[in-house]
Amino acid sequence: MEAMKETVDQSLREMRETFASGRTRSVKWRKAQLGAIIEMVKDNEEKMSDVLFQDLGKHSTEAFRDELGFVMRSATTALNCLDKWVVPKKSNLPLLFYPATGKVISEPYGTVLVLSSWNFPISLSLDPMIGAIAAGNTVLLKASELSPNASALLAKLIPSYLDTKAIKVIEGGPDVATILLQHQWDKIFFTGSPKIGKIIMAAAAEHLTPVTLELGGKCPTIIDHHSVSKDMKSVVKRISGGKWGSCSGQACISVDYVLVEQSFASTLIDMLKPVIRSFFGENPKESGCLARIVTKKHFQRLSRLLNDPRVKASIVYGGSMDEEKLYVEPTILLDPPLDSEIMNEEIFGPILPIITLRDIQESIGFIKSKPKPLAIYAFTKDENLKTRILSETSSGSVTFNDLMIQYMCDALPFGGVGQSGIGRYHGKYSFECFSHEKAIMEGSLAMDLEARYPPWNNFKLNFIRLAFREAYFKLVLLMLGLTKGMRK
Ligand code: NAD
Repeated sequence: MEAMKETVDQSLREMRETFASGRTRSVKWRKAQLGAIIEMVKDNEEKMSDVLFQDLGKHSTEAFRDELGFVMRSATTALNCLDKWVVPKKSNLPLLFYPATGKVISEPYGTVLVLSSWNFPISLSLDPMIGAIAAGNTVLLKASELSPNASALLAKLIPSYLDTKAIKVIEGGPDVATILLQHQWDKIFFTGSPKIGKIIMAAAAEHLTPVTLELGGKCPTIIDHHSVSKDMKSVVKRISGGKWGSCSGQACISVDYVLVEQSFASTLIDMLKPVIRSFFGENPKESGCLARIVTKKHFQRLSRLLNDPRVKASIVYGGSMDEEKLYVEPTILLDPPLDSEIMNEEIFGPILPIITLRDIQESIGFIKSKPKPLAIYAFTKDENLKTRILSETSSGSVTFNDLMIQYMCDALPFGGVGQSGIGRYHGKYSFECFSHEKAIMEGSLAMDLEARYPPWNNFKLNFIRLAFREAYFKLVLLMLGLTKGMRK
């Protein structure tokens, strides 16, 4: 660990020197690095796909959609928009401040630490880096130890494509993360669990370092079957894709559970079963299209959740597991007890509880009784229900009539609120996430207002009162001596 401390010290020193040299502030440098990220992914598509298969059993198509393609698109957007993003924003100052002018410039924080998670090890490592580089920072990445092949590949490729004095990778687990957190950073970007998020925030507090915490939680999905009955085939397909089609449900924005009216539950189950079969065949274990559970420890956690006898009794589909192959069959539960562990911790696996309500309007109260989710999904065409969801609940995002696509759409900010996270990124929001917006005001020495300065008197008080109200006409009257008294 002493050697690791030395490595971290040395890396930080070099990154700080590079930042101080001003190199990373140049738009040319930023563009060159973003272009190099695209090249790196393009050149190594097969290798990246292979490690995602080794670490998580991801099919190459899924890997391209969720990771490689996503990263290339994100870097391309940053590359294409950077010239626009870096332009200072002119502020329209009130007349009161005339002839001063104002603007906001985005300055890089400096030296950024990115800690990523294992479920999308390539995209969740490179996507924050793209934002940090676009904003002109130096970056150190520590990817997750639980996706060792992906982390090792990034550690090998990044130095051979990117500026090694400004962009660094360190491999390791929590012990290395602990060493990194003992150092002072200018910004910390963390993707992971709320539990570790608290550790990150406590460490950042030591140096008052700004943090972005991309956390998780339980994302509910409401199905208002009355209003979407004609489109139910698509609804069921989207839910199946959202639960089982992306890293086997090990995704922060995956459907955690479904809320439906009692009368519709059995129809929903009957509709889900053939869709699961159409996705993964009769034997999903052999389909090659269902990612595996990341580690034995995570498998055992899912197995514990499912083996609670009361939960086991609620299985209506699936439920088989193979520890050797880290496989959990796509599983549906009907009304597992609400006080069971599976209904109180993020499932992060291919198990879908269906919770029944007498009336779908009760879904609002149900969601409000839980911590604020990263995403709420609702299949409904009922405008009244939509309005209630938007105004009565709080979450990182709300998506109506679809699932997970909000993550892919970089015109929207992505991030949580409360337990599900702090801060946001993607597209322009990534640039903002890694920039300090500095207010610039340029005053004029051409004129001076005596009312700003002591000694104080009633005239000055009246002047300030009118100035705060931007009552310009009255101000002129006051200065011309045409106003005697002032009403408060
Ligand atoms: P995790 O919190 O266990 O680990 C995340 C990172 O923190 C890893 O790099 C790990 O090495 C590091 N870490 C672990 N222990 C640490 C410690 N004691 N001190 C400092 N760092 C430590 O999370 P995970 O298991 O990798 O990921 C799963 C969680 O991440 C879920 O809760 C999921 O919802 C969330 N997640 C969120 C997003 C998002 O974008 N909001 C994306 C993916 C995953």
